[in-house]
Amino acid sequence: MNKTLIAAGIIIVIIIVATLAYYSMAQGGKGEESDVEKIKKRGKLIVGTSADFPPFEFVDEKTNEIVGFDIDIAKAIAEKLGVQLEVKDIKFDALIPALQNGEIDMVIAGMTVTEERAKVVDFSEPYFEADQAVLVKADNEEIKSADDLAGKKIGVQSGTTGELWVDENLVKAGKVSEDNVKRYNKFIEAILALKKGDVDAVVIDKPVAEAYAKSEGDVKVAFIIKTGEQYGIAVRKGSDLLPIVNEVLKELKDSGKLDQFLKKWFS
Ligand code: GLN
Repeated sequence: MNKTLIAAGIIIVIIIVATLAYYSMAQGGKGEESDVEKIKKRGKLIVGTSADFPPFEFVDEKTNEIVGFDIDIAKAIAEKLGVQLEVKDIKFDALIPALQNGEIDMVIAGMTVTEERAKVVDFSEPYFEADQAVLVKADNEEIKSADDLAGKKIGVQSGTTGELWVDENLVKAGKVSEDNVKRYNKFIEAILALKKGDVDAVVIDKPVAEAYAKSEGDVKVAFIIKTGEQYGIAVRKGSDLLPIVNEVLKELKDSGKLDQFLKKWFS
C-alpha cells in the first residue's frame, strides 16, 4: 500500500472530524439569536408606542396611520437595519412589559429616561428634552400655579412621569386626595374628561400639552412644571440593538435631519 496515500487519507479524515466538531460546538455555544439577527431574519422592526402623544406619535386622521416625530426616527432605524417598520399602538404603561415579553423590539414613545425604568430596560442617548405642563379648560381663570391644584380633580395617564409628579407633589403632600386623581389608559381620554368637566386639570408633557391646546382649541396650558426630562428609546437590557439606535440618533443629529424632523412636526 502506498504510505503517502494512507497518510493523506488520515489527514483528510482528521480535518473533516475537526471541522464537524468545531461547527457543532459553535452552534451549541451560540445560544439564542441576538435581537438584530432576529429582526433581520424576519425583515421587520417591531416598535411599540402609545399613539396619543402628538406630535411625537398620533393617528393621522386621513390615512389612519401612526405618524409623528418619533415615528420618523423609528423609520430611520428600520432603514439602517434594512428592514420594514411595524408600529404597534399599546397603552403607555404596557409598553415596557411588551418589550420584556418580546412582543416588540423597541419602545419609542416620548418616554422619559428614569432611574426606575433604567433598572429594567436599556435607554438610548437622549434625543429630546421636555418639562410637564398643566392643561385646563380655555375659560379657566382659577388655576395658575401648583398651589391652585389643591382640592381639584386631576387627570393623568397611567404610568407616566406626569402621574408620578401628581403622586409625589399633590397626593403625598396632602393637597389632593387619591380619589381625586383620575388615571386614564390614554391621554386622549384625560383630555376628553377635561373638556366634559370630569377633571379640572390634566398633567401632561409640555410639548404635547401645547399640541392639544392647538388642536382642541377649548383647552389651554395653565402653567409649566419644570422637570427637565430627557426622552430616550428603550430596548431590552443588553440588546445589540442599542448601539445601532445610538448610531442612527448620532447620524440624524450630525446630518441635520433631526432638526428637519423638529421643524416638520413642531411648527
Ligand atoms: N414623558 C412621559 C413619560 O415618560 C410621558 C410619555 C407618554 O405618555 N407617551 O412618562
